[in-house]
Amino acid sequence: MKFSFEFFPPKTPEGMSNLLLTSKRLAELSPEFFSVTFGAGGSTREGTLATVQMLKENIGMNVAPHLACMGCSRSALIDIIKIYQRLGLKRIVALRGDLPSGMGQSGELKFAYELVSLIREVSGDHFYIEVAAYPEFHPQCVTVEDDIMNLKAKMDAGANSAITQYFFNADAYFYLRDACVKHGITLPIVPGIMPITQVAKLIRFSEVCGAEIPQWIRKQLISFEDDVDSIKAFGQEVVYKLCERLLSGGAPGLHFYTLNHAEPSATLVTSLLSTAKLAE
Ligand code: FAD
Repeated sequence: MKFSFEFFPPKTPEGMSNLLLTSKRLAELSPEFFSVTFGAGGSTREGTLATVQMLKENIGMNVAPHLACMGCSRSALIDIIKIYQRLGLKRIVALRGDLPSGMGQSGELKFAYELVSLIREVSGDHFYIEVAAYPEFHPQCVTVEDDIMNLKAKMDAGANSAITQYFFNADAYFYLRDACVKHGITLPIVPGIMPITQVAKLIRFSEVCGAEIPQWIRKQLISFEDDVDSIKAFGQEVVYKLCERLLSGGAPGLHFYTLNHAEPSATLVTSLLSTAKLAE
């Protein structure tokens, strides 16, 4: 079973020390790679670089920076790609990104497929390029067909693999995967998995990124009110079953959105690994 963990760049030295502990704990599980988001949640691109360097120096893991083209000039993007190449990083997650509301220019590159082309132009085959995919479709997509063809455009521009937005409905993932096959998209599509730990935060995130929380999950979570233990236990059960179904249905791996916390993702991976061992 292949799996990876995503972090965001901490904003304080204390956050960075906590991330070091989190990443040490998760490295014990031997993931394929760690990834570090770019510009999300108000953090800067320097934050991504500093976090990637910290992880590389202290953990020695395969680390993949995310890079988003929106809001960046072409020359700034080229500089960052070259820095990552010089650091010896081998994997990159190429995205369009979202501009914080009220922030001016969108940048010279408008879509992620243009960034994938730029990375190939600047660094040839050096990087293994991951791109984003959306089992419940991107919030701005005009038609479902457009969204699928956008993934094809990213593959044709040189992407190697895709990681999805998180979702709680396995059928949405299987539908996207089968539709991709019909459109000649041969990229592995790795489900992005969001452990459930905090209800208000999950509802807020899901509204922004367009992920649906099915009613039966939402209502059950809300009914627990401040009972954190019940939320965690129910969340673990729901997400574990989702992961199991995805893996048994042929998903090529899992990518965990850790939100810089080790235990929810570590518990899921440990349970999944022991189930996989029992099945051998
Ligand atoms: P694109 O693939 O460019 O698609 C964006 C939209 O444009 C889609 O609706 C697509 O259908 C449409 N489109 C594409 N081409 C055209 C065209 N030629 N004409 C008209 N429409 C077109 N955001 C961050 O800021 N930082 C991160 O680190 C980050 N990490 C992420 C990691 C993963 C795994 C995922 C799934 C998302 C991540 N995001 C991140 C969020 C992402 O940046 C947003 O979802 C963003 O809105 C779209 O990025 P994209 O790379 O999918 O864009």
